[in-house]
Amino acid sequence: MSASQPPQPADVPTLLVKIFGKDRPGLTAGLFDTLAAYSVDVVDIEQVVTRGRIVLCALVTQPPTGMEGDLRATVHSWAESMKMQAEIISGIGDNLPRGLGRSHVTVLGHPLTSESTASIAASITATGGNIDRIFRLAKYPVTAVEFAVSGTETEPLRTALAIEAAKLGVDVAVVAAGLHRRAQRLVVMDVDSTLIQDEVIELFAAHAGCENEVAEVTAAAMRGELDFEQSLHARVKLLAGLDASVVDKVRSEVRLTPGARTLIRTLKRLGYQVGVVSGGFTQVTDDLRERLGLDFAQANTLEIVDGRLTGRVTGEIVDRAGKARLLRRFAAEAGVPLEQTVAIGDGANDLDMLNAAGLGVAFNAKPVVREAAHTAVNVPFLDTVLYLLGITREEVEAAETHTDTD
Ligand SMILES: [Mg+2]
Repeated sequence: MSASQPPQPADVPTLLVKIFGKDRPGLTAGLFDTLAAYSVDVVDIEQVVTRGRIVLCALVTQPPTGMEGDLRATVHSWAESMKMQAEIISGIGDNLPRGLGRSHVTVLGHPLTSESTASIAASITATGGNIDRIFRLAKYPVTAVEFAVSGTETEPLRTALAIEAAKLGVDVAVVAAGLHRRAQRLVVMDVDSTLIQDEVIELFAAHAGCENEVAEVTAAAMRGELDFEQSLHARVKLLAGLDASVVDKVRSEVRLTPGARTLIRTLKRLGYQVGVVSGGFTQVTDDLRERLGLDFAQANTLEIVDGRLTGRVTGEIVDRAGKARLLRRFAAEAGVPLEQTVAIGDGANDLDMLNAAGLGVAFNAKPVVREAAHTAVNVPFLDTVLYLLGITREEVEAAETHTDTD
């Protein structure tokens, strides 16, 4: 047989050998040692270990004529000696080919209830999708599981599951399967109430004694009730006369969102480029870029003259449209196609950026943002975004260092 003519198991008899029981070293080697005596070839193998119990399935070609009975007896006797249960099922060919249209569905629960899992699975089935595999991505800080689904297009599946997720109060992300999922990517984040827990302008306002006035305008702008640029100028004007030494104080007051360092560290270790765009100020984002090792950072700049804030901003205004424009610019600079970018934000001024990105993630967002984004995370841990990208907790922990922690 030439190398270009692999065996075609589609219509040949095959045996499915399933072993179940307490996991121990040497089981996989033991089973295949036993099968080797019958000159069968491996068509497929799946092995899963859950809390110390193993399920090992081997799909193998039929043994030579007259040997199947002997093979069955030998496998059962080996399994018994290992205190395992064995099941051997005759059949034809390989697994059924997976349907067209493949997606990864990530479900985050805190906790993940049986009811939620049942509803998500039922919704997948209702869209015509088939669940091919399920596995756990993480148990901390949330329970994250991934369903590999085939037989339905990604968009309708995303729409159906978004409605279900909102009803159930779990976070669900649907992304198209394919090589690009692990290709070089760019992640661009909003800063205020996304990367950090604070709204930077409110930190400045507290030093200027106009906290309440500024907070009111901010809230209205984030709900989408006010034009961002107008609200920016109105709020910055309230800071006129503030001593520039306040910049250092505000930098030290900024509190990172839990999981922010883990998110960035893991993404960087996996070769992602990471940037921030902010309707806040370069006086803070430049500092964050340096501290966190970010590749890109852009924001508005508070004008400082003679050691005092003038109440104006200088340079290019970063507003709702500006954030989307910067996402495109960073992507071009990073050499990453827009469809391989991820944007994360919480406010109405993030919506254009979230929609322009390949995957837009609403992070603990206002309802208007949550409803419009591709997916939403409603637990207060930024590192859970990693699971939406199919990155497992093991990979996160592999990127951990002992020198810095959240
Ligand atoms: Mg924000």
